[in-house]
Amino acid sequence: MGRSRAVAYNAPLESVGSGARLSRIAYVNGRYAPFASAGVHIEDRGYQFGDGVYEVCEIREGALIDETRHLARLQRSLDELRIAAPMRTPALKLVMRELVARNRVRDGLLYIQVTRGVARRDHAFPKAAKPALVMTARSLDRRPAEANATSGVKVITLPDERWARPDIKSLQLLPNVMAKQAAREAGAFEAWLIDAHGFVTEGASTNAWIVNAQGVIVTRQADNAILRGVTRTTLLEMAEAQGLAFEERAFSLEEAFGAREAFVTSATNVSIPVVTIDGRMIGDGKPGPVAKELRARFHEVAEVS
Ligand code: PLP
Repeated sequence: MGRSRAVAYNAPLESVGSGARLSRIAYVNGRYAPFASAGVHIEDRGYQFGDGVYEVCEIREGALIDETRHLARLQRSLDELRIAAPMRTPALKLVMRELVARNRVRDGLLYIQVTRGVARRDHAFPKAAKPALVMTARSLDRRPAEANATSGVKVITLPDERWARPDIKSLQLLPNVMAKQAAREAGAFEAWLIDAHGFVTEGASTNAWIVNAQGVIVTRQADNAILRGVTRTTLLEMAEAQGLAFEERAFSLEEAFGAREAFVTSATNVSIPVVTIDGRMIGDGKPGPVAKELRARFHEVAEVS
């Protein structure tokens, strides 16, 4: 137990960079392994219990965006679940860069996952398991996000059925998976989750924002009910620096219906305007100026390293 094991399955070679084809490389518990044969033990607690955490960091022109904030949130998630850090931060940063380089990613995303490790199945924490670390990096075609930013996207709403700690970026994503699938089946980009009081918490994989009827940017306060998005934090900092009026507070679906603008944010999408919610047009039904401006300027203020 405790060692990673390669599990072979058929996976296609992925296209990377400018059309060159090379097999992808994953990082699995101390080793760089061909993506197609990289695997973890069947008793990894991430696999059996969702007992782990993750991060997704944007890669842009070969650099990591907002790495410091992503690593700080990773540490917080680990602390909340009492999982030990798999390695020290400087070593982790080296692996992150090595993986980006080995996969020749210029624009894409880096995925980091840490689980409590491998142990005989038993709910309570194992005594001697070592945390397991997996990382992947892949190129991302930016065109779909650009097209969404230009046209705006549709959002549906669903009850927020997640556990009470979505502020922890844990692997337990089943309600998010179900919500995103419902959105897809409805022809929508995202599902906004609504709490028991009729307030919007966040999207299945994005934070939710409006520019209300008074022109104030509103996004829910980062308490235990939402994930404190790194993009959200950076954009709020930017709004403050630009002197834009904003409030971190809960907003109701009713307020969203009457808003001038709505939008969603995440590391891989930056900000994407929302033009309908449950089929109701928001504002004039076109992407709004605030969402556009935040998107256009995000990379001027985000950390690049
Ligand atoms: N909320 C949820 C539930 C998410 O899964 C994500 C990102 O994956 C976000 C918000 C946005 O966070 P970030 O801006 O750090 O990508």
